[in-house]
Amino acid sequence: MNPLVLGLLASTLGGATGVWLTRRRRSGPDSSALLRAEVGAALARPGTLHDMLQPCAEAIVRHLGGAFARIWVLPPGEQVLELRASAGRYTHLDGEHARIPVGQLKIGLIAQSGMPLLINDVPNDPRVQRKWALREGLVAFAGYPLLAEGRVVGVMAMFARQKLKDDILEALASVADAMAQGTARQYAEERLRQGEELFRLLLDSTGEAIYGMDLKGQCTFANRTCARLLGYPDASALIGRRMHELIHHSYEDGTPYPREACPIYEATSKEGIHLDNEWLWRADGRGFPAEIWSYPLWREGERLGGVVTFVDISERRAAEAERARLLYETQEAVRARDDFLAIASHELRTPLTPLRLGLQSAQRMLQDGQPPPLEELRSRLAVTNRQVVRLTRLVESMLDLSRLTRGTLQLETAPCDLAALVNDVLERSREVLAQAECSLDAQVEGPLPVLGDRLRLEHVLENLLSNAMKYGACSPVHIRCRAEQGRALLSVEDEGIGISPEDQQRIFGRFERAASVRHYGGFGLGLYILREIVEAHGGTVSVESQPGQGARFTVTVPLLETPG
Ligand code: ADP
Repeated sequence: MNPLVLGLLASTLGGATGVWLTRRRRSGPDSSALLRAEVGAALARPGTLHDMLQPCAEAIVRHLGGAFARIWVLPPGEQVLELRASAGRYTHLDGEHARIPVGQLKIGLIAQSGMPLLINDVPNDPRVQRKWALREGLVAFAGYPLLAEGRVVGVMAMFARQKLKDDILEALASVADAMAQGTARQYAEERLRQGEELFRLLLDSTGEAIYGMDLKGQCTFANRTCARLLGYPDASALIGRRMHELIHHSYEDGTPYPREACPIYEATSKEGIHLDNEWLWRADGRGFPAEIWSYPLWREGERLGGVVTFVDISERRAAEAERARLLYETQEAVRARDDFLAIASHELRTPLTPLRLGLQSAQRMLQDGQPPPLEELRSRLAVTNRQVVRLTRLVESMLDLSRLTRGTLQLETAPCDLAALVNDVLERSREVLAQAECSLDAQVEGPLPVLGDRLRLEHVLENLLSNAMKYGACSPVHIRCRAEQGRALLSVEDEGIGISPEDQQRIFGRFERAASVRHYGGFGLGLYILREIVEAHGGTVSVESQPGQGARFTVTVPLLETPG
């Protein structure tokens, strides 16, 4: 006989036994078998504890002739029983018996003692309300602890309007046993589900992508971040896929990455690896740089595959590139400044020697007491004047540079005729051009009314002329000045050393020079300042050149629209 039944009989020794044998009840051996079958089916059904236990309570009432049957469960670690099923006279799950602390009332006492309880004379039992029992016609009560592996997982109880005999008690004990196993299994599954859910929640909450793979390199699990970073709708799209072939098949430059060479996959058979700059491929065919950790997965000495974690380092890489760029720029700026200081001191000193010599010799001529040879004196002074002009221009360039850097270069514009301005400058420059042995070929078509800062526009032309003389190697200088498509166009062309195509943009930058420093002096500032001035006039400057075949610089500024 079932131990629960034995216990129950022990707790009901005396008059009760006699009563049990006197009356026939509605249930027979068939109903007991049917009850067991129905309970078995209900317990196998998926769903909540209520879904599982409610049909059991109903079957008990139906097959064992109970007035009502109820089932409470005791969740693991809890001390309060919770009503989960109720059938027969009472079907509600709320009310005063919905939650019964262990140790209280009959139900709580059954849970506490782990022993069944049978009352075959309910109206006279002090543990039952007499009036209620009489009104409901209740005669007997049987309560069973639901015991699984020595632990109480609930209590099942039935009230009946007739005394309960041992075959009924046996049937009750047996279904209580089955329900205990079912409830315990349900709790275990729930714990597993909760564990899995927690595991998934943890995996999904991390900002790092995680996926697992088996020994064949096929994905066994993946978290949400993994699917997101790789561009898949969800992790299920990755399960079963060969991860190397899917996300790591090629290097960043597109060349194939053979699986034999894949350190991520290889790490599953080794100690684990950290790769700080790999390239992974997304579903849409685009790639991204990733930092990756790959470790083997072991269970009790058996290698199952590997776990791979990765993060997208695009932003980090971009920040590093930006830092490197800024560092390079800073180093370049420092280098340019140092170069500039070296060149500037050299350039500023160069005119000083002829200036000093010229002045000293003029001084000597005047000190001799003899009337000075006028021609020689004039030529000496002309030399010193040229050096002063050169010095002035150098100092002006430096001033312009500092104004441009601080953004304080201002134009004083007024309507002026560019053609007349060009003619003036050329007239003034004839002597210098002759000294540089550069013949002049000028075609100036005017008038060309523009809104400009006259002095600065003169500097523009002077600069281009001085470069043509410097780099022109005694070649003719061709000047063209005319109107073209609503703009005044001025070009200065020489037949000198020319500029290679890769230098043609660069030379308009600050301190940028293309010619050899040893052969040609200069700050590398002239074209930079020139372009700033021309652009401030709404104009453009460009160069066409071939190395060794001269250079043509072309400046355009908008023509002033004349009324009429
Ligand atoms: P600098 O002449 O003082 O070096 P610029 O800014 O005027 O500075 O010119 C920048 C560079 O452009 C020069 O160093 C030279 O290499 C090149 N360049 C300018 N004009 C000419 C030209 N007419 N022919 C060849 N190279 C030129």
